[in-house]
Amino acid sequence: MESGTAARSTESNGAPAPAADSIEVHNPATGDLIKAVPVDSPEAVAATVARVRANQPEWEAMGVEGRYYWLGKLRDWIFDNQDRVLETMKRETGKVHADAMNEPVYLTDLINFYGSRATKFLAEDSLRPHSALLAAKKLRVQYRPHPVVGIISPWNFPLILSIGDAIPALQAGAAVVIKPSEFTPLGPAELIEAWKTEIGAPDVFDCVQGIGETGGALVDAVDFIQFTGSERTGKKVMARAAETLTPVSLELGGKDPMIVLADADLDRAANAAAWGGMMNSGQICMSVERIYVEEPAYDEFVGKLTREVSRLRQGADNASNPKDVGAMTSPNQTAIVEEHVSDALAAGAKALTGGKRVEGPGDYFEPTVLVDVDHSMKVMRDETFGPVVGVMKVRDAEEAIRFANDTRYGLSGSVFGERERAEQVARRVECGAINVNDVLVNYFATEVPMGGWKSSGIGSRHGEGGIKKYCRSESVVITRFGGKREPSWYPYTKSRRRLIGPLTRLFNARDWRRRLGLKP
Ligand code: NAD
Repeated sequence: MESGTAARSTESNGAPAPAADSIEVHNPATGDLIKAVPVDSPEAVAATVARVRANQPEWEAMGVEGRYYWLGKLRDWIFDNQDRVLETMKRETGKVHADAMNEPVYLTDLINFYGSRATKFLAEDSLRPHSALLAAKKLRVQYRPHPVVGIISPWNFPLILSIGDAIPALQAGAAVVIKPSEFTPLGPAELIEAWKTEIGAPDVFDCVQGIGETGGALVDAVDFIQFTGSERTGKKVMARAAETLTPVSLELGGKDPMIVLADADLDRAANAAAWGGMMNSGQICMSVERIYVEEPAYDEFVGKLTREVSRLRQGADNASNPKDVGAMTSPNQTAIVEEHVSDALAAGAKALTGGKRVEGPGDYFEPTVLVDVDHSMKVMRDETFGPVVGVMKVRDAEEAIRFANDTRYGLSGSVFGERERAEQVARRVECGAINVNDVLVNYFATEVPMGGWKSSGIGSRHGEGGIKKYCRSESVVITRFGGKREPSWYPYTKSRRRLIGPLTRLFNARDWRRRLGLKP
């Protein structure tokens, strides 16, 4: 049974147990079964949401500081239990140690980021009326959380993309229920169990396990859905959410371009391309997937990149034998990577290093550099999500920009070159975030929004918007003074009619003739 597939469990007498489906979780680095996790039925999902919903008003009433107290305890728990967290991460994803470390680093930083800024981000707005006709009104906007936020997450960063999205939601005062990926359900469950039992925090944070049916049931039950995953599933989630008019934020796939200009530091660009393309085995929505290099720099860049990638050590790592590139977490993804590479090779591309699946045990694909690629090939068009980069020679920056934007995706990207020129080129790439002379780093600059254009998503995480999206705005319009009646109320008398026309003309016209009611 493959990791992440549902298995119907049997009772000890061999008869099928009624509706006791479970998910088998395997270690992708070895293929070993770790454990079977019971699937939550739609009824169980509804009950979990109802339970945390009942506790949410008290959580909201605690205020930003009261909630940061508990999130701070979660941060401390992560530091105190880091080895355990990393072990779970490595076992269920097949990540190497250095890649797994990103998860606790990001979570602890994000707790501090939102904990110390939520008061400012969620502060009530006080606005001046734009019109003298509203001069007697006090205008305020307050931000109240969606009571229950549902988070549906993928397998490539099991904690960052589940607990990471829960942090601003909890800090905003929402209760949260996560449905982790069926391939990586253990890490999120471990942290949430710690929240409930070891930390003893309020019962406003839980998770439910399963595949599409469980995810769909979560969409039905909550007030806001934060989804991270494929474009295909994102569309299904949005359609399901439309049935209950539940707002969604969708973080979907990418096909991120890197542009290397002739005046780039080619060592830095090649090292960045190797890391940005192979980190986490290329299983990152923002991985470097396609590279466009200005003609004069092409040969030197490709030589440096190929040398760097061919030196990478792959496999299950440990302290005495560290590795650079880990396993493929989902067997379905390995099949896609293999298909993209063989499609390219069949159409005339050349693998300068790598190019095939590694024989077992475990699920590995060789770090691969492809050249002689073009935009008719899947590897340059569709999301590969594996340790593969395709490199194309371009005439100039204009051609690079044209190719970079020739995609239905628009998540992020990078441009390497002399700083000012690279920045000008970067601003013309159509995507939600772009790095100049670096890769992937924008994800850790949590001040700036991270979200996709085009088929890469709707909405964004991080920054002020990343916590406000979990809130509903309530405009409070307060009358400071006024008589028994406003001029616009009943009765509609002749004298009022004579007053209102000239008054609105006086305030809304933008020239004196019209203000005074004179003919133009
Ligand atoms: P996926 O779409 O297969 O699954 C994502 C989640 O949706 C899983 O938890 C899955 O169980 C659940 N799901 C499946 N069917 C569902 C349904 N009908 N209703 C509700 N939930 C359902 O994606 P994946 O393979 O787990 O993840 C890889 C994808 O995620 C890639 O496309 C990658 O680019 C994308 N991703 C995007 C970002 C981002 O921030 N934009 C980050 C990481 C990954």
